[in-house]
Amino acid sequence: MNEHLDNGASIAGPGVFDAGHGVSYTPYYLDEKCTRLGGLYMWHPCPLTRERLGVDDLTGVGPNAKTGQAWGYENVDDMAHITLIGSVLDPECGWHGFIRNGQWEPC
Ligand SMILES: [Zn+2]
Repeated sequence: MNEHLDNGASIAGPGVFDAGHGVSYTPYYLDEKCTRLGGLYMWHPCPLTRERLGVDDLTGVGPNAKTGQAWGYENVDDMAHITLIGSVLDPECGWHGFIRNGQWEPC
């Protein structure tokens, strides 16, 4: 795997940072030393994911959204307050919004 997590972080949900609205995220990195941010693994309350997986609670389930190099990132020195340049969309369920200052803003 070419994506690395900070020590203690897990691909199992929820994410390390709670963005509100049931959304959480965990940053992943492109290098083992975790200095080059690759993007965010994200968890959102997704009826389709729940239906597909047959679970009511996504806790302990892997991410169901992800950002990458196509997004811009601000405040990366303080991941609890990261801002994404560009929105995140799950086209299948319609979940759409922004992470600003570490908080989910639906749109
Ligand atoms: Zn969804």
